[in-house]
Amino acid sequence: MRRYDLHCHSTRSDGLLAPAEVVARAVSRGVDVLALTDHDEVSGLGEAREAAESAGIGFVPGTELSVSWEDVTVHIVGLGIDPDNPSLGAGLDAIRAGRATRARRMGDALAQAGIPGAYEGALKFVTSERLVSRTHFARYLVEAGYARDVKGVFRRYLVPGKPGHVAQAWATLGQAVEWIHVAGGQAVVAHPGRYKVGAGGMRRLLGEFCDVGGDAIEVLSPAHTPAQYTEFATKCRVFGLSASCGSDYHGPGESWMDLGDLPPLPAGVVPVWKDW
Ligand code: AMP
Ligand code: MN
Ligand code: MN
Ligand code: MN
Repeated sequence: MRRYDLHCHSTRSDGLLAPAEVVARAVSRGVDVLALTDHDEVSGLGEAREAAESAGIGFVPGTELSVSWEDVTVHIVGLGIDPDNPSLGAGLDAIRAGRATRARRMGDALAQAGIPGAYEGALKFVTSERLVSRTHFARYLVEAGYARDVKGVFRRYLVPGKPGHVAQAWATLGQAVEWIHVAGGQAVVAHPGRYKVGAGGMRRLLGEFCDVGGDAIEVLSPAHTPAQYTEFATKCRVFGLSASCGSDYHGPGESWMDLGDLPPLPAGVVPVWKDW
C-alpha cells in the first residue's frame, strides 16, 4: 500500500527544513506520495517538486489557507493546485499582507504585556521574507526565556485570550475553496479536531464547507486521537466528503508526528487520492 502524507511545512512558511530537505526526509521515512502545504504560500513547490522527481516519489503541490469562520480560525488545505494560478496567487498575497500587519500588532500587544522587541525578535526567526507567523514569535520568545518551548509560548501568550493574541480577519471559507478550485485543486478541512466549536459548530462548519463545494476532511492528523479518527471518518460518510491524512510536520523537535508516521485510513472512507 502506498504511504501518503498530504500536509507538511517548509522554511517557506513556519517549518524548519527547506523544501528539498522536507522531501529528502519524507523519502528516508518511506513516504510514497508527499504534499508540501506551506501556510498561505506556494513558493516552495518548485524546489520540492524537483527534489521529489529526482528521488522518484509522488509529489502533490499544496498549500494551507488561513480562514476566518464564525469566530475561529480554520485551516483549509488545497491539494493538487496549480501554483501559478493568478486568482489563487492574489488570494495568498492578500492573506500574507494581513500577516505582516498582524505581526506588528502582535509586537505592540506583547510590548504592552511587558515583552518589548518581540516583533524585531520574531523577524530574526523568519525564514522567508514573504511570510511571518505566530510560530516565529514563539521561537523568539523561547530564545528570550519567556517559556521552555514553543508549545509553552502558545499556551501562555499566543492563543485567544492571551496577551500576545491579535484577532485576524483571514479569507472566508467560500473564498478559500473557490481559489483552490480555480487552481484545479481539492479543498480539505485541516485537523478539524483542533477547532473549539462544539458538536453543533462542527456540523455547521462541515455543512457550510459542503455548501461551498469542499471536497475532503483531514481524518488522520497528529491533532486527533484514535477516537477522532473514527469520528471524522463517520463525518466523511455523513457529509459525502473524501478523507485525507497528513503529519503536519514542521521540523525536528517541534512536531507532534514525523513525516509518514500516519496509520492507514479507517475502512469505509473514500480517499482524497481516489482519482489521482
Ligand atoms: P499563524 O498561522 O501565524 O496564526 O500560526 C499558526 C501556527 O502556529 C500553526 O500552523 C502551528 O504551526 C503553530 N501552532 C499553533 N498552535 C500551536 C500550539 N499550541 N503549539 C505549537 N504550535 C502551535
Ligand atoms: Mn504551522
Ligand atoms: Mn494548520
Ligand atoms: Mn499545517
